Amino acid sequence: MDNYRDTAADPLPETELPEAAASEAPGTEASEAEAPEAEAAVRILPVAELHLHIEGTLQPELIFELAERNGITLPYSGLDELRGLYEFTDLQSFLDLYYANMAVLQTEQDFADMTRAYLARAAAAGVRHAEIMMDPQAHLSRGVSLETCVNGVASALATSVKDFGISTMLIAAFLRDLSEESALEVLDGLLAMNAPIGAIGLDSAEVGNPPSKFERLFAKARQAGLRLTAHAGEEGPASYIIEALDVLGVERIDHGIRCMEDPDLVERLVADRIPLTVCPLSNVRLRVVDTLADHPLPAMLAAGLNVSVNSDDPAYFGGYVDDNFAQLGAAFGLSEFDRARLAANSIHSSFASDERKAELVDELNRG
Ligand SMILES: [Zn+2]
Repeated sequence: MDNYRDTAADPLPETELPEAAASEAPGTEASEAEAPEAEAAVRILPVAELHLHIEGTLQPELIFELAERNGITLPYSGLDELRGLYEFTDLQSFLDLYYANMAVLQTEQDFADMTRAYLARAAAAGVRHAEIMMDPQAHLSRGVSLETCVNGVASALATSVKDFGISTMLIAAFLRDLSEESALEVLDGLLAMNAPIGAIGLDSAEVGNPPSKFERLFAKARQAGLRLTAHAGEEGPASYIIEALDVLGVERIDHGIRCMEDPDLVERLVADRIPLTVCPLSNVRLRVVDTLADHPLPAMLAAGLNVSVNSDDPAYFGGYVDDNFAQLGAAFGLSEFDRARLAANSIHSSFASDERKAELVDELNRG
């Protein structure tokens, strides 16, 4: 954890940040179109994306394309009807559509195409390292094998550095509304097939499914040498964050924004430099906060928390990492220093090698 502490004690000085080279930055044009004039020349920073569900990158166009390829009849008349369903009242209303749309993912090629589409868009957003969650149980339950979903995603990740300049790690995420026995069975399957996963996570419906339900799963993953992360403190209470740290032994918290309700917990998270992978646009779409202006990110930064900006399920929540940065900039006027701090936090909080982190920090400082 020393590297996290170093980041806190010695954040990037503002003077090291070069002037924006907007004309060279991929994806800047799209941001210019939507961002206010003051944000138009903002440089796209190199970042690590640490909180991303690959199934949440399934864009409506690709859903229709895969449905046609696989001979599946969708219950929507067209793209407009499907897009119109992307108005959610809470986490569950999103999850219902999210799982329904997964029906189009049938073959390894489908999973590979979805992953490559994400990587191409992420590269334009400045992502240089991506830790990508996949929900194997969501595919097994509809008759798609572990081999199909894992090998499909992994085949795209295997060439991600060459094809997109993005180093990657695959995270097997487990659905917390299912039993621990189910999760253990799937983890056994992943280990038996020597799946190329580097970590496990915990996602889906949070309230009523506390981290402690998965104590044995995380102990087993730790024994297998996997890194550990879990969603906590999104819709669930701050106490779930404490449980995830103390009972599951996670190194990172996904979301975690409700930590702000517990000053003692904030103090602990700051002292231990625990990474919180915050997803601002997701929080607005799922009504965890009313508007972006109500988001606690500025307060979290001011408190000294180790926060990063991530897109969660970008096809459903209105944007990728660059969109999150652009809209945060519009809502709060984030300083260049804060933007660089968020980017540096994402790199240091990743499970990448020290060598890769050093490369990315160098790229961030170089401009
Ligand atoms: Zn998530």
